[in-house]
Amino acid sequence: MTDRQIWDVAIVGAGVIGLACAFELARRRHRVVVIERDQPGQHASRVAAGLLGTAALPLGEDEGLFPLKLDSLRRYPEFIAKVEPIGRRSAGYRMDGTLWVARDADEDEQLEALHVQRRQRGLRSVRLGSDEIFPIEPELAEGLVGGLLVDEDVQVDPRRLLETLEQAVKIVRARLLVGTETVGGEYDDSESAWSVRLRQTDSGAVIDPLLARNVILTAGPWCDSVIDSATESGSSLAPTGVGPVKGQLLRLRGPRVIDRVVRTANVSLAQRRDGELIVASTKEPEAGWDLTPTDEAREALLERASDLIPRIRELDLEEHSVGLRPVVADHLPVIGSAGRTGLWVATGHFQHGVLLAPSTAYWLAEAMESGEAPELLKPYGIERLGQPEVSMEAAS
Ligand SMILES: Cc1cc2nc3c(=O)[nH]c(=O)nc-3n(C[C@H](O)[C@H](O)[C@H](O)COP(=O)(O)OP(=O)(O)OC[C@H]3O[C@@H](n4cnc5c(N)ncnc54)[C@H](O)[C@@H]3O)c2cc1C
Repeated sequence: MTDRQIWDVAIVGAGVIGLACAFELARRRHRVVVIERDQPGQHASRVAAGLLGTAALPLGEDEGLFPLKLDSLRRYPEFIAKVEPIGRRSAGYRMDGTLWVARDADEDEQLEALHVQRRQRGLRSVRLGSDEIFPIEPELAEGLVGGLLVDEDVQVDPRRLLETLEQAVKIVRARLLVGTETVGGEYDDSESAWSVRLRQTDSGAVIDPLLARNVILTAGPWCDSVIDSATESGSSLAPTGVGPVKGQLLRLRGPRVIDRVVRTANVSLAQRRDGELIVASTKEPEAGWDLTPTDEAREALLERASDLIPRIRELDLEEHSVGLRPVVADHLPVIGSAGRTGLWVATGHFQHGVLLAPSTAYWLAEAMESGEAPELLKPYGIERLGQPEVSMEAAS
């Protein structure tokens, strides 16, 4: 036995998922340390558009995720109400709703199908004819043939949310270790705790390992590099198989052009109260770990956006962002026990990590405290992937 501090929970990765977990667990009075290789909230979480909703096209795309999306969407008001006063900042949560628009008869049919699906699920939406769209969003282009108003689907500003969460996490006394990379770990039977191996990101210098009863892997698309020794030895085996899907997104700035989130099947627009307008986004699974912004993507996004709202061409392009969405084979997240005592995983949130952060944090904390997988998390267990159980042991 040692007299070194043993943390209740070590969280590896301070994106939106890691920070939300840290906040939830520290509020429940667990002693929490968050280990972040870079600075908190610098990767996909910082790039995200911040669209929060259950409606999705093409229809059926998110079928397996619907219960968790709905749960998290409905947790958002309470999540924000807890985080903002503690973090003492606004997270840019806007409840002005989402307007889906159709540019032709085919798209209008899809909106009708989405409307019917929502009714069957007991969710509200309102069908709009072409003449009903413009009074709602007057800057929209002429020639749109129909719309669907979804009040419940809203937006948050992920950058503000991350700042608020980071501040809140510190105030609830979780410790943030930045510039520190987790390079593996082993279960120490004599301490009944994980010994988590660390090094400084900049210098590569090895730091004393820390001890934690529980470790949660929230390292986004890098989760497997933390835990999987097999890939290092050249095998293609990977514990979760999580990998990146590149996404490009534009941040423009100018006068107000929309209040609601405006969406079609191939572009989404969201404007913050400070005038920042988000044009989202590309999905490039074939691009691997590449983080290069491309002219082609920029032009395609600008064209799709200005087809919907011509005045968008007058706004200034402030930033062309690129991020890597964490994804596993079936596009569902992996949340829960990693099959070893005290080892947990929360990754693979793909295109919905900002939306799913409140539910991921809440239900993972419930699982940890009760020792049982909550009903809602059962479809997202690691077992479904048919991969070998996670081990941090041989990672070096
Ligand atoms: C263009 C784009 C648009 C998007 N739009 C939306 C949207 O509108 N709504 C929505 O809900 N989601 C959206 N997403 C998805 C969302 O951004 C992701 O699902 C979410 O950010 C994943 O969060 P994460 O915390 O799992 O991963 P990340 O944000 O990638 O964080 C992982 C963290 O782990 C750290 N890390 C990695 N390895 C180690 C290590 N060995 N040791 C210590 N730390 C480590 C990294 O440095 C990083 O900070 C979008 C994504 C993109 C790219």
